[in-house]
Amino acid sequence: MKVTLLSKTESRIKLLIEDVDVGFVNALRRVLVSEIPVYAVDHIIVYENTSQLYDEILAHRLGLVPLSTPANVDKEVTLSIEKEGPGVVYTKDMISDDDSIKPIIPDIPITKLGNDQKIKINCIAKVGIAKDHAKYQCCLAFYKYFPVINIDKKCDLCGVCVEVCPKNILKIEKDSLKITDIKECTLCRTCEEQCDLQAISVSYDNRKFIFTVENYGNMSVRDLIEISTGIIEEKCDEFIDKIAGVAEPGQRR
Ligand code: SF4
Ligand code: SF4
Repeated sequence: MKVTLLSKTESRIKLLIEDVDVGFVNALRRVLVSEIPVYAVDHIIVYENTSQLYDEILAHRLGLVPLSTPANVDKEVTLSIEKEGPGVVYTKDMISDDDSIKPIIPDIPITKLGNDQKIKINCIAKVGIAKDHAKYQCCLAFYKYFPVINIDKKCDLCGVCVEVCPKNILKIEKDSLKITDIKECTLCRTCEEQCDLQAISVSYDNRKFIFTVENYGNMSVRDLIEISTGIIEEKCDEFIDKIAGVAEPGQRR
């Protein structure tokens, strides 16, 4: 397997993964979106709520607030909210008893309080995985096959494909049709469909993928990838152990 970093920001990483089949990248995607353990509000204790929202709606909203998740920490954390109106209750009003586990985005509005309205709530946060509840989903992960575009010599440089390409990656330069950035091709095949001469054809390399991960801030994209590969490794070890315990056909255990 060969992995090349295509781009990286604080919240997004794009990798080129080569010499693997689709099963591997899909397993990586599935683990990333559903099995990374992160903190989220599990339940709330309402002492007072005279806001316009029912307790259940508040619980739902609070459950969806992304919380920072330090590596290898698994305990119960309380985030308390106490506020009187008039005003808006934001995620920054969730005061955590552990500073390393708190809302990542401080300005998400939770509810609006009118005159004399008040909320006093304790939010109990726990570690969980998105396979059990979507509120624990901590990233998006997706991939596409690496595009392959062939331009035949019968191309008469009419320019139709250049005009219709939604990603603007085709251009006519020095009497030939060029692809400016093949990674941006979405495999939509519009160029192919619009070419009267069938001079352009689009396909893909089924052992080469552009893999993107976008985090929600709970942890860095690097940590997400490290944890997900660790989970895949554990699953493989478990599988190997189970296979070792399976009897050969005709063999008694
Ligand atoms: S539409 Fe076809 S013929 Fe026209 S420039 Fe594109 S590939 Fe060439
Ligand atoms: S397949 Fe779509 S995105 Fe790719 S080059 Fe053709 S028109 Fe552009």
